Amino acid sequence: MSAPGRLRIVGLGPGGDAWITPEASHLIANATDLVGYAPYLERLPPKQGQTRHQSGNRVEMERARHALRLVEDGRHVALVSGGDPGVFAMAAAVFEAIEEGEPGWRDIDIAVSPGIPALQAAAARIGAPLGHDFCAISLSDNRKPWPLVEKRLAAAANADFVIALYNPASTARPGRIHDAFALLRSLKSASTPVVFARAVGRADEHLYIETLAGANPGLADMSTLIIVGSSETRIVRRRSGTPFVYTPRGVMVEQ
Ligand code: SAH
Repeated sequence: MSAPGRLRIVGLGPGGDAWITPEASHLIANATDLVGYAPYLERLPPKQGQTRHQSGNRVEMERARHALRLVEDGRHVALVSGGDPGVFAMAAAVFEAIEEGEPGWRDIDIAVSPGIPALQAAAARIGAPLGHDFCAISLSDNRKPWPLVEKRLAAAANADFVIALYNPASTARPGRIHDAFALLRSLKSASTPVVFARAVGRADEHLYIETLAGANPGLADMSTLIIVGSSETRIVRRRSGTPFVYTPRGVMVEQ
């Protein structure tokens, strides 16, 4: 029997060292093994004696089981994710693997270390669009049927939430983002502010602010997070620089 291993599921934030928490840095520095999708591992400096296990993005369950097996061998594993590991990311895959897997996996020393999710980073860059009630919806239909995405988009629009759209573009189905915008346009005001936040925190960061009617959904790629305002969300234009977008903290009650 080797000494017990442990698993830390670590969020790296959306990009940039300044947005990696001290806890995440500590856990990564002290791991014997790093497991993750290649682009996330590439963000971390190589360390002598530390083993890296890279994988593709479409094999989350396999990656989770691989990490759990390494822990069984007594390794101290950091499983890294972009943003927060619990937001459309690896943490849920690990708990699914544990629930379905070997009974002994339930007793593994395991902890999740949070990271800044893309929606918070994008919101911070633009002002305060998440100042009041909001929700997040992934447009990826790899793991759920498209009609369910449409049902949730319609419910969120009808409930007048600010909506953060994750995974807006898919190479397999490039039309989905256009379908999503068509649906939102049929339910929300044409003047609703929309923010496209691309590669937030990275060198190629780009922010694009438009109205729901004027926005070009074709500009979204896999590195883009879209925030669609509620009926309360405002754009504050300035003489120079990017406008601010915010959602007031209170909703006016009609008398
Ligand atoms: N766990 C991550 C989300 C992973 S899903 C989080 O907490 O944010 C991948 C999607 O996240 C991308 O398609 C994009 O919509 C969004 N995303 C991740 N990093 C981003 C960044 N730096 N800028 C904008 N969007 C980002």
